[in-house]
Amino acid sequence: MTMLHLDNVTAGYGAVQALKGVSIEVHPGEIVTLIGANGAGKSTLLMTLCGDPRARSGRISFEGRDITQMPTHEIMQLGLAQAPEGRRIFPRMTVRENLLIGAQVAGHDPAPELERVFAIFPRLHERQAQRGGTLSGGEQQMLAIGRALMSRPRLLLLDEPSLGLAPLIVRMIFDTIRRLNQEEGLTVLLVEQNANQALRLAHRGYVLVTGQITMAGTGAELLARPEVREAYLGGH
Ligand code: ATP
Repeated sequence: MTMLHLDNVTAGYGAVQALKGVSIEVHPGEIVTLIGANGAGKSTLLMTLCGDPRARSGRISFEGRDITQMPTHEIMQLGLAQAPEGRRIFPRMTVRENLLIGAQVAGHDPAPELERVFAIFPRLHERQAQRGGTLSGGEQQMLAIGRALMSRPRLLLLDEPSLGLAPLIVRMIFDTIRRLNQEEGLTVLLVEQNANQALRLAHRGYVLVTGQITMAGTGAELLARPEVREAYLGGH
């Protein structure tokens, strides 16, 4: 069964049409990567899934339920969680407080999830009393992902987790995503400009160009396509 299905979705801001009839599917247990250049509409797609902005037309369903018009908090309660671009952690709150906020959506006892996130990211355990705003870029990304995991999501949405990070940290973040997928069956929808690593990680991928899907295939298929190599991998 399809876990997430966008069917011919349009969305935008005022006169800007950022998504022009996008159809994608994510199946349970998959890592799906959406690649696209700056302004292609990647963030808009993830935000539209969460209900803000609303789809102007088309249909979005999650685990068979139509969520196109559902309020954002109800969508989150169904089992989606997002680590947004720019991380959006709370800079004055401690690491621990930031993580506990992530559990509020789900309304369950946060203690086991906190232990789990600390096991996934030992660095966050070490830094649990430190204010979020004083963490390094890589640590902030770990916190953003950790916070999303606190709600025990079935579908994790990641918006450019590699943005602005050193190659070693990017590898560590992507390794963690792979491990969560393989060991726990976590389903992931990842949007990235870092096409090479993101497509290597993915079971399947889509290419988004100015609000439209232009290519789809397995990660390996897309990596082998000359158009992808030229546009997103510097022709190498
Ligand atoms: P990037 O990688 O640079 O973040 P993106 O692929 O995530 O790009 P979006 O942020 O989804 O792209 O933007 C898609 C289009 O919508 C762009 O033309 C952008 O200028 C426009 N846009 C995004 N947010 C808004 C907004 N709040 N108001 C008006 N236009 C917006």
